[in-house]
Amino acid sequence: MIYIHVPFCKRFCTYCDFYSEIGRDGCFKPYADELCAEIRRRAREIDDNPKTLYFGGGTPSVLPLSVLSRILITLDEVGHGGPYREFTMEVNPEDIVERGRSYADSLLSLGVNRISIGIQSFDDDLLRWMNRRHDAARAREAFRIVREAGFRNVSIDLIFGISHLSDEVWAATVDEAVALGPEHISCYQLTVEGESALAEMVADGRYTEADDALCRRQYDILCQKLAEAGYRHYEISNFAKPGFEAVHNGGYWARRPYAGFGPGAHSFRGSSRSWNSKTLQGWTAASEVLSPEDTLVETVMLALRTDKGIDADFLHGNCSMDDIGSLVKNGALVREGDRYRIPEDHFFVSDEIIRELI
Ligand code: SF4
Repeated sequence: MIYIHVPFCKRFCTYCDFYSEIGRDGCFKPYADELCAEIRRRAREIDDNPKTLYFGGGTPSVLPLSVLSRILITLDEVGHGGPYREFTMEVNPEDIVERGRSYADSLLSLGVNRISIGIQSFDDDLLRWMNRRHDAARAREAFRIVREAGFRNVSIDLIFGISHLSDEVWAATVDEAVALGPEHISCYQLTVEGESALAEMVADGRYTEADDALCRRQYDILCQKLAEAGYRHYEISNFAKPGFEAVHNGGYWARRPYAGFGPGAHSFRGSSRSWNSKTLQGWTAASEVLSPEDTLVETVMLALRTDKGIDADFLHGNCSMDDIGSLVKNGALVREGDRYRIPEDHFFVSDEIIRELI
């Protein structure tokens, strides 16, 4: 599993604090030089089980195609080239529309077989508030372009739990997403991240966080509408048509090893974790060996986010049987064969359930 971090955006969204810089001509070549050198240097860390490649950001769709090709050629030269079982590219709708059908065709011919479009909302007022580059019409247009280019595995991202997002607008947003018919939908509740513009807005009183009741209602609307439309709710924030569950992200939840390249990228090797510094040039890696406690917390937390849940023997061996018993009694955990899982109607409070266990 390979992750490539593309640390460029054309503008910064209100809620985001991912590492990113404004992408300008002239910054892509030095980035590619250093990234390709890093891939060569660390190639032996790449584990191809499963063989996935994920370009995330930032905004990978701002990368010139020549830079994307160069990265792919480098991966090929170190013995980890395509075809990949899953090759995902995160894209901004505005880039797809601006760069047009030929760009989507090029992505397909370079081996990208899954597109993740950051739509976030179909409400123009909300999109402006989020400081997104696109409006709802451009989001629809981007979806049409990638479909017509031939992408058969398209994911879209949506955000709920915004204090001025009404249930009616949210329901209409989910309906519109369903009508487009993506194979996969990721939905995130808005959170106030420390370095984001939103955090400043909260601090000076320009934004008040949505209360739990609103978030819960909107999560329920989401779950109900997507279930009716035939999506499987296979992870707290992720829904897929059968057979289109994300392979790469599934690897994260199963704690498979992955190698991350680029500034700010993280890597995981079973008993240790490393992360690159957030600097456009001369990024360096720091690492830590995970303690048995860290490993336990991660294993339980990640597994219980999914509808596959966790191995019963593992839970019995590492958590209190009294806690497990009382969670089962309250319907917060369900035992199925040799596994426990959190039922969908308790996904919303999964953090509290997991905290009780560990
Ligand atoms: S949400 Fe995406 S496009 Fe917006 S600032 Fe963050 S990384 Fe950039």
